[in-house]
Amino acid sequence: TGALCYYYYSTRLLQNSKTAASPPAAGRGSVIVEGVDGLIGNTPLMKIRSLSEATGCTILGKAEFLNPGGSSKDRVALNIIRSAEEDGILKPHNGSTIFEGTVGSTGISIAMIARAKGYKAWIVMPDDQAQEKYQLLEKLGAHVEKVRPVSIIDKKQFVNLARVRASQFGKVDDGQQKLSDMVGYFADQFENEANFRAHYQATAPEIHQQTQGRLDALVLGAGTGGTLSGLTCYLKPRIPNLKVFLADPQGSGLYNKVKFNTMYAPTEKEGTRRRHQVDTVVEGIGVNRLTRNFDLGRQLVDDAYRVTDEEAVKMSRFLVREDGLFLGSSSAVNCVAAVRVAKQLGPGHVIVTLLNDSGQRHLTKFW
Ligand code: PMP
Repeated sequence: TGALCYYYYSTRLLQNSKTAASPPAAGRGSVIVEGVDGLIGNTPLMKIRSLSEATGCTILGKAEFLNPGGSSKDRVALNIIRSAEEDGILKPHNGSTIFEGTVGSTGISIAMIARAKGYKAWIVMPDDQAQEKYQLLEKLGAHVEKVRPVSIIDKKQFVNLARVRASQFGKVDDGQQKLSDMVGYFADQFENEANFRAHYQATAPEIHQQTQGRLDALVLGAGTGGTLSGLTCYLKPRIPNLKVFLADPQGSGLYNKVKFNTMYAPTEKEGTRRRHQVDTVVEGIGVNRLTRNFDLGRQLVDDAYRVTDEEAVKMSRFLVREDGLFLGSSSAVNCVAAVRVAKQLGPGHVIVTLLNDSGQRHLTKFW
């Protein structure tokens, strides 16, 4: 099993010169970094005291909310842009525009790095997300296009529309002088393997180093699946007894895919409704299709947990009360699942999860 993933790391990565920034050995806070992209990655692994004490396990959260753009997506956006530059597709300061379909975090990271590197950003987003994400994007100078949340088979779905917008770039004469190598580039986080590589080549080695390889379980949700696959494909071969668990919100088909190998099994509560039709306050994770980045590591995932909105909301309030930890919705889902894994494995185990972003980006919806 895990054929795709093993194929990937054994044959392609070894020959691939494209590397995500590897963590500076000196660690965060003890080096001078160059520019905003120098602040990306190398995040601390934090022991969540309340959950660890309650379960008798060591529950560790990778503090991705400390990235300069506020989420783990900074790593992905940077690696996607770097890879396109290495391939000679993107050149800074020539008017090139990066297009992306996103529920927000990736867009914010792209907008930030685009500014730092001399590109423009055009972000297509569903219109039902927390308001502060659109505001942040506009302040970062991105062009924001909002669309109705619809199925992936619809041409106006946010990812599909971003692809179309990139292909239309430069074809409409806006009277501006066009440079010959100016392009519209579709970042394509769901299918672009530079997303997977950002985690395989940086986030995962960081976790391996921080835990000295002593961890029993990894538990996290998936949007594109880049984080889940990147971490799983790197860590599983190095830690033979490691168990990997998916944390999935209401309405997402990934839980069914992991457990029953079919995405569209009707569920008791939701029937056959899909992610975009289920009214959930959780943003950033849960989809109803098999993306390239999820597929890369999917067969190495051991089991999945379904987490309800109610459980995620309760967890987020608990963590503020007990730990002063103010998290976004996907991090709360991850923590709910981490506690379930702790209960399943029993006391004494080390469990790692991801704290993707902070609650500040979720004030008007989840909070
Ligand atoms: N949490 C948040 C806040 C996100 O925006 C995302 C990505 N959409 C994820 C988690 C999931 O990460 P991935 O895309 O790597 O599965």
